[in-house]
Amino acid sequence: MPRINCPHCKKELVYLNRKDLPYFPFCSEPCKLIDLGAWLDERYRIEEPMSPEALSRMEKKGGEHG
Ligand SMILES: [Zn+2]
Repeated sequence: MPRINCPHCKKELVYLNRKDLPYFPFCSEPCKLIDLGAWLDERYRIEEPMSPEALSRMEKKGGEHG
């Protein structure tokens, strides 16, 4: 019998048919939603571009005479 682990809670799921798991590959709807939510959060997190302030700070650090 095929078995998988829920990607979210790692619970082992044994199934005969994928149809047995309406939330495949998750064990339950909450797991699916939580994991999907986390994935979306990860994906849509926009990395803040380096601010001009941070850039000028770097330039000063490396460009001083001495
Ligand atoms: Zn789960």
